[in-house]
Amino acid sequence: MPYLGAHMSISGGIHRAIDRIKKVNGKALQIFSKNQRQWKARPLDGNTIEIFKNKWREWGGYEIAIHTSYLINLAAKNKEIRKKSIYGLIDELNRASQLGIKYLIVHPGSHGGDGTDLGLKRVVNSIESAIEERGSDNVLILLETTSGQGNSLGSRFEEFAYIIEKCKYSDRLGVCIDTAHIFQAGYDIRDEMSYKRTIELIDKIIGLDKIGFFHLNDSKTELGSKVDRHEHIGQGKIGLSGFRYLLNDPLFKNHSMVLETPKGKDLKEDKRNLKVLNSLINY
Ligand SMILES: [Zn+2]
Ligand SMILES: [Zn+2]
Repeated sequence: MPYLGAHMSISGGIHRAIDRIKKVNGKALQIFSKNQRQWKARPLDGNTIEIFKNKWREWGGYEIAIHTSYLINLAAKNKEIRKKSIYGLIDELNRASQLGIKYLIVHPGSHGGDGTDLGLKRVVNSIESAIEERGSDNVLILLETTSGQGNSLGSRFEEFAYIIEKCKYSDRLGVCIDTAHIFQAGYDIRDEMSYKRTIELIDKIIGLDKIGFFHLNDSKTELGSKVDRHEHIGQGKIGLSGFRYLLNDPLFKNHSMVLETPKGKDLKEDKRNLKVLNSLINY
């Protein structure tokens, strides 16, 4: 059965995210490696890294993914922003590597009106530059599926296939599937037929072996809305059935899946959503 958890705040120190995930009994975690709305951050010091790794071990060593800063736009029209984004990605790769985290989740980016083709080419170039500058290690870059709002890339599976195929370092790339985003992009998962068709499409176009991580969110908006609004599990337009197929699919029984749904400081919403998800698992 899949490992279920949530995105947690690193407020008070990066290790505090592990305290929070333990509090809701989660078995998968996503974090930001720094304030996600600032370019600059202090480098991680040895002490911080050690505390984090010890806590991680105590928790059980479940999978942790870093979600990169929202400022990063690998497809940016503006050259300066693209350059900053490449350095931003390098910094995130460094931090992931220092913390021993395997997955780095990044949005493909926004083409700023220049069109999908040019946008995708820039994404490939930016990733190649970052990997060449950073050198090789074990961190995998997972490109996240998006709802396709405005000029953002990543709402069609073909776009991921293109990036992975064209990139010189395709073995360093994978995808993160967000249930709300694919639904908002027009891929239905609400009944068995549509769920199976969507998974078949991912398999045929990208390859299931490229899926590294999942975001489990219900959607406030309709199928194909292209508007990204997260809702609590079962309370949105996807509803419980889609999550039931995904959670019981043997293809993903060893995958880690995290919530990115709204919550307060006491985390009671996460507890409730995790309870709902667990109740859908038949085995
Ligand atoms: Zn994201
Ligand atoms: Zn979203």
